[in-house]
Order: sequence, then C-alpha cells, then structure tokens
Amino acid sequence: MSPIPGSGLAKGLAVTLRTMTKKTVTAQYPDVQPDLPPRSRGVIGLFEENCTVCMLCARECPDWCIYIDSHKETVPAAVEGGRERSRNVLDRFAIDFSLCMYCGICIEVCPFDALFWSPEFEYAETDIHELTHERDKLREWMWTVPAPPALDPGAEEPKEVAAARKAADKLAAAQAAEAAAAAEADQAAETDQAAETGQAGQNEQTGQNEQTGQTGPEGGQA
Ligand code: SF4
Ligand code: SF4
Repeated sequence: MSPIPGSGLAKGLAVTLRTMTKKTVTAQYPDVQPDLPPRSRGVIGLFEENCTVCMLCARECPDWCIYIDSHKETVPAAVEGGRERSRNVLDRFAIDFSLCMYCGICIEVCPFDALFWSPEFEYAETDIHELTHERDKLREWMWTVPAPPALDPGAEEPKEVAAARKAADKLAAAQAAEAAAAAEADQAAETDQAAETGQAGQNEQTGQNEQTGQTGPEGGQA
C-alpha cells in the first residue's frame, strides 16, 4: 500500500512539536553551572591533621596514584620516667588525578576520616603533570567539602560530640565555681572593710569623748 502523500511530513512535524514541548536536559555548561548533588565525586580533599600516615589508602588504591612520604620522630615521655614514643610525620601526600578513577576506595578505607569527596570538578589542566595535587592543594579542596548531612532523629549522639559537651560542661562548672569563690571573697573583703571602718569610727568617738572629758554616753564628768 502506498503511503498517503504528506504523511511523512506530518510525522516529522509531530516529532518536532513533541520534542519542543519537553523539558530540555542539555546543560549549557560552562555558561550555566550544572546543579550537582552535594556528594558528587569531583575531587578528593585531605584533612591533614587527621592523617596518621597509616598508608592504608595508598595500599588499597587500585590505580596506585596516591604518593605518601613520611619520617619517624621521637616524642619525649609525657611524664617523668615514662617511655619515649615515636610518631609518623607526613612529608608528602599527593594524588595523581590523571590516574585516579574516582572509585572512592581511599576515602572508604581511611580509618581516621582524613579524606573527603568535594563536588569541585573544574581543575582541568593543559599539562598532565599539574593533575598531581600535592598536600597544599588537597588541603585547599577541604574548604569545598560540604557539611555532613544531619543525623537521623533519634540517632545516637556521636562520641566526639558527647566528649566535647562533657568537656564544655566541666569547663563551665569550673568557671562558675571560680566566679562564685571570687564573689564570696569580695563579699568577705567588703564585710571586713565595713567592720574596720566601724571600729575606727568608734575609736575616734572614744578619743573625742576623752578629749572633752566625757566618760560615756550619759555625759557624766570625771
Ligand atoms: S578514588 Fe580510587 S583511584 Fe582515586 S585515589 Fe582514591 S582509591 Fe585511588
Ligand atoms: S588512610 Fe587516611 S590516615 Fe591513613 S595514610 Fe591515608 S589518609 Fe592518612
């Protein structure tokens, strides 16, 4: 059966009309920034203070693109007669993002919460060597890491928060006790001063009485 003349054109127009009324999914990047979920895997930030140089991340990375150098340092004993301790000091921490496949294994395995995902993704370079981000650069990415989501209602309070609250309560109690002791000391000093002033006044009155020849409140003469 031969097709109806013009049916192809009608079909094409129908497709055009249908598509025109649909919401567009094309993002006009870079003129318009994409609306990414906050937990997007853009780049990895390093929170250096938490890193103990345990090397777990470097060992587990499937691409071997984490480079860590460190040295040992001896820490003197905290108390007299105690033992000296040794600790690892980080010399270099770098991630080669030209090799990284953004699997997130390093972040998952870090036992000390030193690595985080940041949604930042605009760090393309013309020189591939520039894609190896050293510790300073990785630290800068930390400022772009979004805050963690709120806890579920009824969730157990994290032990860090409980410990911080306990320390804050202890400090507040110590400060309140100190303020109360200071107020008490002030009050005692005021009372002493008042007593001294009263005594001095009495002595002065007695002296005047003796000068005028009065022996007592009745004003009898000697
Ligand atoms: S995200 Fe994966 S590939 Fe990239 S550094 Fe971490 S472990 Fe290695
Ligand atoms: S796993 Fe965490 S603590 Fe250990 S070296 Fe890597 S970043 Fe540092």
